[in-house]
Amino acid sequence: MILVLIGPPGSGKGTQAARVALALDVPRISTGDILRRAIEAGDALGASVGDAMSRGELVGNEIMIGLVSHRLAHPDAARGFVLDGFPRTIEQAVALDALLEERGPLAAIELTVPDSELRRRLSQRRVCGRCGASARFSEDSPESTCACGGSLVLRPDDDDQVVRDRLAVYAKATAPVLEFYRGRRALHTINGNLPTDQVTERINLAIDPIFEKYFSGLPDTWSGGTPFLTS
Ligand code: AMP
Repeated sequence: MILVLIGPPGSGKGTQAARVALALDVPRISTGDILRRAIEAGDALGASVGDAMSRGELVGNEIMIGLVSHRLAHPDAARGFVLDGFPRTIEQAVALDALLEERGPLAAIELTVPDSELRRRLSQRRVCGRCGASARFSEDSPESTCACGGSLVLRPDDDDQVVRDRLAVYAKATAPVLEFYRGRRALHTINGNLPTDQVTERINLAIDPIFEKYFSGLPDTWSGGTPFLTS
């Protein structure tokens, strides 16, 4: 079970990826989280990606493909995984294709949300500097401390100008990725501008029949193949 969640910043792909991963009992692999942890840890990877991330630019394909290839080799990803934030370029999509050879079906979900709503959501998003949890800031709930005791802060790349740049980067770099999966009839476009539970429900409705159809059609001796499925 391999699911790729594609959506602009603020579209809720992190939240939805976590929900679907929990339901499927597979790991959620967020490349943004991996990079942020590397920056916090102050390691070599973090040092090499910090500038690009704070400017809202994409990190280089070579680094990202190496990182994902390494992560997918972990035993917990053997049964499948939900990718959140990868692939973001056509080069990454092609590399993922090669990595997935013989690893079972892939479905791609695109979440669409109008830019004005994305900017509104991101201006209200706060993250905990200690545990990484997300919270929503508003005049009605101006809480600045997380349940864990850490401080809730605006992510540097959620600054409005950086958000505009990230949206432009998304539109330009990720459009070919959508075409890539659409061309294989593996892409399911879902309105991400609905209440969170309804988005989850629509994702489940889109993916359940695909995986059911796939697994019910497999011979007992199946050991891989057919990386893309159509609905
Ligand atoms: P996210 O948390 O997914 O919004 O990612 C935050 C930032 O991490 C992005 O704006 C990029 O700078 C970087 N990043 C995450 N995933 C990728 C990727 N697949 N390719 C390039 N850069 C990435």
